Amino acid sequence: MYLDRLGKYNENWKLKKREGILIVVSGPSGVGKGTIVSELIKMAPELLVKSVSVTTRKPRSIESEGNDYFFKSIEDFSELIEKDMLLEYACIFDGKLYGTPRKYVAEQVANGKDVILEIDVQGALQVKRKWKNGIYIFILPPTFQELERRLRDRKTEDEEAIHNRLAVANRELENISEYDYVIVNDQISDSVEYIKSIIIAEHCSIKRSFKEG
Ligand code: 5GP
Repeated sequence: MYLDRLGKYNENWKLKKREGILIVVSGPSGVGKGTIVSELIKMAPELLVKSVSVTTRKPRSIESEGNDYFFKSIEDFSELIEKDMLLEYACIFDGKLYGTPRKYVAEQVANGKDVILEIDVQGALQVKRKWKNGIYIFILPPTFQELERRLRDRKTEDEEAIHNRLAVANRELENISEYDYVIVNDQISDSVEYIKSIIIAEHCSIKRSFKEG
């Protein structure tokens, strides 16, 4: 299975045991992050998992608790912040809060699994300050017109929300230099292959393969 080759401890070469990588994926709402991430996970569910965020926004009709998000009241979300149970959190659209539960990410990485965080730029910057050796991938639409078309096609936002999401997308682009990789999502299957290649390359990197010192 992909990603597994270097994961096996190699007596001859003193390779390190496979270590999980934290992979942050950001990009404008509607760019196709969710589809790309679920396709990637289907390829290697035993090696790659997705962090399920908590949010105070309402579930969409196709979403379910614990699968897409853990849906919380503002009070419950505030309690998670107070107890320092979130690796990062941000206020994104219409004052709605989104955050990454810390414990799940830490446990999975410690068990050698790669964990994908599909989060916005504010959250990515917080993670970057706290977590050594993560990889940061930004997904762009082929054009902004195409992004607008995709947002309209999915029919989950009203006109005001679409405008809001496009404005946020423009602002987020200002931080793209904080990321390690950029992918233009024209064809989902290509984007999945590119991210898979990035993850494999990172696992094969010298810094992740040998013990320090
Ligand atoms: P949506 O409401 O469309 O599901 O997500 C809106 C935005 O919130 C997306 O850009 C998504 O990446 C971001 N997001 C989802 N979960 C988290 C999270 O845990 N933390 C942060 N900072 N952003 C998140």
